[in-house]
Amino acid sequence: MKHCYECGTALTPKECEHEGTVPFCSSCNTFRFPIFNTAVSCVVFNKTEDKILLIQQYGRPDYILVAGYIAQGEDAEQTVRRETKEETGLKVISHRYMKSEYYEKSNTLVFNYCCVVDSEDLSNINHEIDKADWFSILEAKEVIKKGSLAERFLLNALKSNF
Ligand SMILES: [Zn+2]
Repeated sequence: MKHCYECGTALTPKECEHEGTVPFCSSCNTFRFPIFNTAVSCVVFNKTEDKILLIQQYGRPDYILVAGYIAQGEDAEQTVRRETKEETGLKVISHRYMKSEYYEKSNTLVFNYCCVVDSEDLSNINHEIDKADWFSILEAKEVIKKGSLAERFLLNALKSNF
């Protein structure tokens, strides 16, 4: 962020108490902390944790993780439960935070969770998803979109879990 998002004035670095140097708008007389989006990404497991649910979306052939933006006022865990339910029709019964990564393309900080759902029934998949399938751990590693953030999250989660 090089300019103030309220008035467009060029920001200058200024010392902010306890925070170090922060971009400052001399016109608004206000510090302008960075603004970015936040989202969650979920490695969805079945109850026995030997299968992973991956989805296809936006007409693309690649398999990715269930994911969605955090709504204002929501905590990340609520988003995990809401997005998983909305996209797959499945109820999250437990979840665990794994790691986060900043995704520059959409200016989004993405928090990755592992979650377990109550059923393997895929008859309530949302229309915004093209396809969802259960995969064995090995298969999931093979079909996940190569070089993607989803792949990095999946491999990290499996490294910690198995
Ligand atoms: Zn300003």
